Amino acid sequence: METKEIKKQIEPYLKIIPLGGLGEVGRNMMLVEYKDSILVIDMGFRMPEEDMPGIDYIIPNIAYLTKNKKYKNIVGVLFTHGHYDHIGAVPYIMARIGNPPIYASPLTRGIILKRQEELPTQPKLKITEVKDGSKIDLGPFKVEFFKQTHTIPDNLGIFIETPVGNVVHTSDFKFDKYPVNETPTDFARLKKIGERGITLLMSDSTGAEQEGHSLSEKEINKNLGEIFKKTKGRIIVATFSSLINRLQQIITLSEKHGRKVAIVGHSMKTNIWLTKELGLLKAKKGTIIKKVSDVNNYKDDEVTIMCTGAQGEETAGLMKIVLKEHPTISIKPGDTMVFSSSVIPGNERAVQSLKDDLLRQNAIIYHYGMMDIHAGGHAKQDELKEMINTMKPRFFMPVHGQYSMLVANARLAEEECNIAKSDIIVADNGNIINLQKNKAYIDKKEVPANYVMVDGLGIGDVGEIVLRDRQVLAEDGIFVVIAIVNKKTGKVQTSPDIISRGFVYLKESQELLKETRKRVVGAIEEATGSGRIVNWTYMKDKVRDDIGEFLFKKTERRPMVLPVIIEV
Ligand SMILES: [Zn+2]
Repeated sequence: METKEIKKQIEPYLKIIPLGGLGEVGRNMMLVEYKDSILVIDMGFRMPEEDMPGIDYIIPNIAYLTKNKKYKNIVGVLFTHGHYDHIGAVPYIMARIGNPPIYASPLTRGIILKRQEELPTQPKLKITEVKDGSKIDLGPFKVEFFKQTHTIPDNLGIFIETPVGNVVHTSDFKFDKYPVNETPTDFARLKKIGERGITLLMSDSTGAEQEGHSLSEKEINKNLGEIFKKTKGRIIVATFSSLINRLQQIITLSEKHGRKVAIVGHSMKTNIWLTKELGLLKAKKGTIIKKVSDVNNYKDDEVTIMCTGAQGEETAGLMKIVLKEHPTISIKPGDTMVFSSSVIPGNERAVQSLKDDLLRQNAIIYHYGMMDIHAGGHAKQDELKEMINTMKPRFFMPVHGQYSMLVANARLAEEECNIAKSDIIVADNGNIINLQKNKAYIDKKEVPANYVMVDGLGIGDVGEIVLRDRQVLAEDGIFVVIAIVNKKTGKVQTSPDIISRGFVYLKESQELLKETRKRVVGAIEEATGSGRIVNWTYMKDKVRDDIGEFLFKKTERRPMVLPVIIEV
């Protein structure tokens, strides 16, 4: 009896370890570990939060893999699709984990390779192309890919046969019976997968707070078509460069209405070139205007301009056009501007001022708030329920999304799909979910999953301290005090120098400076006493604290005070 008990205890678990993407939108990365084998699913980044000056991206923390060279256990890296929140961190991570073999669909592969080129000294990636139905054996895992509809072609869900049971990862998905540029969702195939018995379903939660069913691309197409039909002037469409299927719609509609298409924005050009090469985007010969400057050779009703920058991004194509900074295209009265994307939270103000600028230049605007000219790429509640009911999993784990989205998806499973609350795992990044055929629980132990920030070529070297300094600098500026102190007498020689940026305009603050100088001398000489040997660190701290407090009293601002004390 006792030996049996021991044997039971050491029976290995399958470990699911989310390193990113839970409790946040973006930065998706997940580990599936069994004994000495690790599968990696996706490697995405996310955009920084508003209070992170200078940070380019946030990427997953891979300390768990790099510690003790655990990455040597990686049997494969699987990618679901080519969106940057799933592949964007590749150039920052692959070399650090020994460049393990990658499995990705043709378009995802193309986008990953393009992304690699954006950063110097990258290893040559080993990518095996996979497609709907591809099967590969990776250590103890038998992996099979299945097509999922989203806003980008070549999106794959993942089915993994493991020693403890079958695991399904949905990827980002929505159900669309009438998609554009894709085959419709294959419900029969999904049902077959479900019939194989699913131990754990990990399902996209991004749309879980929204009722109903996501809009079909067919509806979008109809509404966009109406705009094309009635517009006499030029049409300018701003959308995400990653919404490949939307780009296809605009191209097809332009062809139908006798318009040529000019593309403004580097990422959009790249994506169109890539998808055309792979045969995943169709445009008749001559539809795409090769040189953007040729736009002006066509009549207004013969032109569509597709551009990036629907979020009001400062460096994107649309912003340049609106600010008259684009070399050849500017807004003409009567231009019709179509925003075919939603506004990402945090970008509302930028988009608002963009719209105002366009209206000042007499453009006509359509945006998704006015009519359905945008559909998100994520399943809403009806589709999420259908996914759960199709897979009928033993255990359910919501992934991809803010915590509230994960909870919303969990509630759907519990309240509408009859999955017991105890069989639903709402996890956080860094959790280890232990899984067996009839048992799943979150381990007490965790792995590091905190933010790793990318700034320029630096990965992770901007930590919390640097970031805090930047926040202070951004808010109230910097105030540098330079004082020369005689080592022997402890007296301050000459009046202290003051340099300041972003705090007050010094020329207009002579009174304040005069008093500050006096305080600096006072603080130093109080610390040095009457010439005795002093603790220089203590003196600096005292100057910083005294001056900081004084400036706050006078201005209610807290600049970063940097005392520089020079001994002579
Ligand atoms: Zn996506």
